[in-house]
Amino acid sequence: MRSIQVLVVGGGASGMAAAITAARNGARVLVLEKKKRLGRKLLATGNGRCNFTNMVQEKDCYRSSEMDLPMRVIQKFNWEDSVRFFDEIGVLARDREGYYYPASNQAVTVLRALERELARLGAEIHTEETVSDIERRMGRNGRDAFFVKTDRGSYLAKKVILCTGGMAAPVYGSTGDGYACAAKFGHHIVPPVPALTSLVLDGNFMKAWSGVRIQGKVLLYNDKGGLLCEDRGEVQMVSYGISGIPVFQISHYAARELADNRRATLVLDGMPDYSREWILDALLKRQKHNGKQSMGDLLGGMMPDKLAGVYLKQTKIPVSERASETEKGRLEELATKIKQMKIPVKAVSDFEKAQVTAGGVYLSEVNPDTMESEFCKGLYLAGELLDVDGICGGYNLQWAWATGYLAGMGAGTIHDT
Ligand SMILES: Cc1cc2nc3c(=O)[nH]c(=O)nc-3n(C[C@H](O)[C@H](O)[C@H](O)COP(=O)(O)OP(=O)(O)OC[C@H]3O[C@@H](n4cnc5c(N)ncnc54)[C@H](O)[C@@H]3O)c2cc1C
Repeated sequence: MRSIQVLVVGGGASGMAAAITAARNGARVLVLEKKKRLGRKLLATGNGRCNFTNMVQEKDCYRSSEMDLPMRVIQKFNWEDSVRFFDEIGVLARDREGYYYPASNQAVTVLRALERELARLGAEIHTEETVSDIERRMGRNGRDAFFVKTDRGSYLAKKVILCTGGMAAPVYGSTGDGYACAAKFGHHIVPPVPALTSLVLDGNFMKAWSGVRIQGKVLLYNDKGGLLCEDRGEVQMVSYGISGIPVFQISHYAARELADNRRATLVLDGMPDYSREWILDALLKRQKHNGKQSMGDLLGGMMPDKLAGVYLKQTKIPVSERASETEKGRLEELATKIKQMKIPVKAVSDFEKAQVTAGGVYLSEVNPDTMESEFCKGLYLAGELLDVDGICGGYNLQWAWATGYLAGMGAGTIHDT
């Protein structure tokens, strides 16, 4: 059985950062990755362009059941450290209003640089090797070590860094393997739910609005009427519900409510730049100017036809009705609907569609300086496996680099076997 100083389970973003850092500290490192190559998910990030960090780093950018903890970690390896880290390994960064991408605009640039650095440092990489179990056992030298079992063999490791990711986008290898492993060492898991994903809405009108994109605002309410979260930007209407970055941003909260068997309601503001009064006034003005036009044409002048059709149907105004025949009370209803379309959330799209996982190993159960388990010396945890999910904008990768770096520092500094 091979003996290893630092064994990294999972060769995604956090695993590669951890392996590089541990190897830079002089440790002999082995990375075990179940997929054919390292960093499959990284290639899909930022639509293939990899938004790898963001210069705005605030508490609200990270979600966790222990909200005060993520920034304590990020402060130890912040966005500037990420930019510097990538610059050192040859990736020139481009700042786009605070969102950082490789200047090449290609995620593969980031992945290749990480792979080159791992090779330069002599880190050993085994792909297509899945870790199935980890146990704490007495090593040959009489000291405790980790017995790591895979589908191709087994290893004795002095330190193990668990970087198996969450459950989002399982096609890239993250199928939640790390949770059982962490639980075995005494860790507790905040139930994982999909986040940064679209919402499945309740109603029979979604086919009619499918394909529409607007600059809108989405607000999410709990069943007591409390506002959980809101965001605005390009909202995309789809045949099963609603999508787009603002929807991704609020999806964490919808997923949590539904997982806890509570209801969640989405409120869509279809014209966030205008007040209800302004919209009503605009409807009345258009009605007065040309009472002969249909209500479909009147509203179609203010928004995409498909969306106008949905609003009219919801307020029971026939699309072909002459504008002059529509009573003021109905126009008031229409203005309210445009500002506040309330739609129950039926479900959150599943892990296949989600970009990240909300939930995971409690952050308070790891040392925020080193990512070492509070329950098992020599075991480190990093990345999406932990109970932290960032909003869109480079925060999830920032989390992966920061925790990977800290774990690599923690695990890589002692290597006396
Ligand atoms: C489509 C998409 C776009 C995204 N875009 C962005 C973006 O632009 N910016 C951003 O910040 N974030 C983005 N994210 C999120 C970001 O990619 C993840 O949060 C980040 O990759 C998590 O890193 P990780 O190392 O924790 O996990 P992962 O990247 O999921 O890596 C985990 C690795 O562990 C391996 N593994 C799992 N179990 C085992 C096992 N038992 N044995 C061996 N290996 C195992 C997996 O195969 C995988 O390679 C995006 C995600 C998706 C899906």
